[in-house]
Amino acid sequence: MLVVQKFGGSSVATPERIKKVAKRVVDTKRAGNQVVVVVSAMGDTTDNLIDLARQLTDNPSDREMDMLLSTGEQVSIALLAMAIDSLGEAVTSLTGPQAGITTNDVHAKARITGINTERLFKELDDGKIVVVAGFQGQNDNGDITTLGRGGSDTTAVAIAAAIDADICEIFTDVDGVYTCDPRVVPRARKLDCISYDEMLELASLGAVVLQPRAVEFAKHHNVVLHVRSSFNKNPGTIVQEVSSMEKQMVVSGVAHDLNVVKMALYDVPDRPGIAMQVFSALAERNINVDMIIQSANRNEVNDISFTITRDDLPKALPVMEAVTEQIAAKGFTYDDNVAKVSIVGAGMVSNPGVAASMFDALAEAGINIQMISTSEIKVSCIIRADQVEKAVSAIHSKFGLDSENEASTAC
Ligand code: ASP
Ligand code: MG
Repeated sequence: MLVVQKFGGSSVATPERIKKVAKRVVDTKRAGNQVVVVVSAMGDTTDNLIDLARQLTDNPSDREMDMLLSTGEQVSIALLAMAIDSLGEAVTSLTGPQAGITTNDVHAKARITGINTERLFKELDDGKIVVVAGFQGQNDNGDITTLGRGGSDTTAVAIAAAIDADICEIFTDVDGVYTCDPRVVPRARKLDCISYDEMLELASLGAVVLQPRAVEFAKHHNVVLHVRSSFNKNPGTIVQEVSSMEKQMVVSGVAHDLNVVKMALYDVPDRPGIAMQVFSALAERNINVDMIIQSANRNEVNDISFTITRDDLPKALPVMEAVTEQIAAKGFTYDDNVAKVSIVGAGMVSNPGVAASMFDALAEAGINIQMISTSEIKVSCIIRADQVEKAVSAIHSKFGLDSENEASTAC
């Protein structure tokens, strides 16, 4: 088999851990596989490099930031290659550019545009293990670019797609994808299998085991992912296309997200073009808006509420002030004492009453719902931040996800 194995920062945080990773990679090779390994920077290296830059300037150029941050992964590939070599296996380390990874020109959040696999295949054909630096590539000018935080996942998936690997294993510090955060609800269960769409929702809803972009990429190129622990040999969670709808669980996971702020515009004139003005002003500043609710019209005005991420709040406030004046609304407020809880499940489409059960669970727990949004495979509610643990726990039990119930997993 042709296998891609990705090890995150915590899996290579110390020399001892690098030795363990080397052993695992070598075992995989000796079991008769060809192996490409993708690694992240050791432990908190990337954060530490960002801190270093901040000590010099508030406004470093994106190009130099990429030059700086890409060094973290370069340290890891060299050390891992040395560790593999000392176990007696032939190995080569490659930077992103050496591995043929090209990207667009958007420094700090570049997108992979192609992978020239010639070098990768040459090394594999020579019988070597290939260790590739995650999170980086090069643009058309030959400059180093990085793929955004957590980008090594995307490197691994993109390489797996380009070389048509049989599996892409993502090694991390948890045993797989859980029905909810085990730190919040200890009764959380590990899922054996989950669809790309469900994983995408969970990944973007704050259950961060995988970079959402990596999941998108995997879905697009049909790369089967195996999310598993780097500290044990237990099978983890398979992420793949799920064909048979009946087999799917109605709800496979409960996600929560504290990185939310609720905004409300009051007494907004009710006429065409208003929503366009509000949301295009936010879009121009690259502020992502998530849930949007417009209340019923009363006396030619209504209220518009929506959510953004906490990080975007400083950017959003001046925009909101300007917009309020521009559209002659009465005013706006925001509330950052909120959280979003969501249920995700591909089987939801064909099961009426799922949303009602979620609301029921919240009501029984005495939790007030401030906003609701739904999609085919997701229902999200905005609630008070300090009630989030209680909410996740109540919903998790309501849908029979607690570990003592041996319900079948997603696929
Ligand atoms: N080292 C980079 C980061 O910390 C990329 C990664 O870990 O995937 O974001
Ligand atoms: Mg990392």
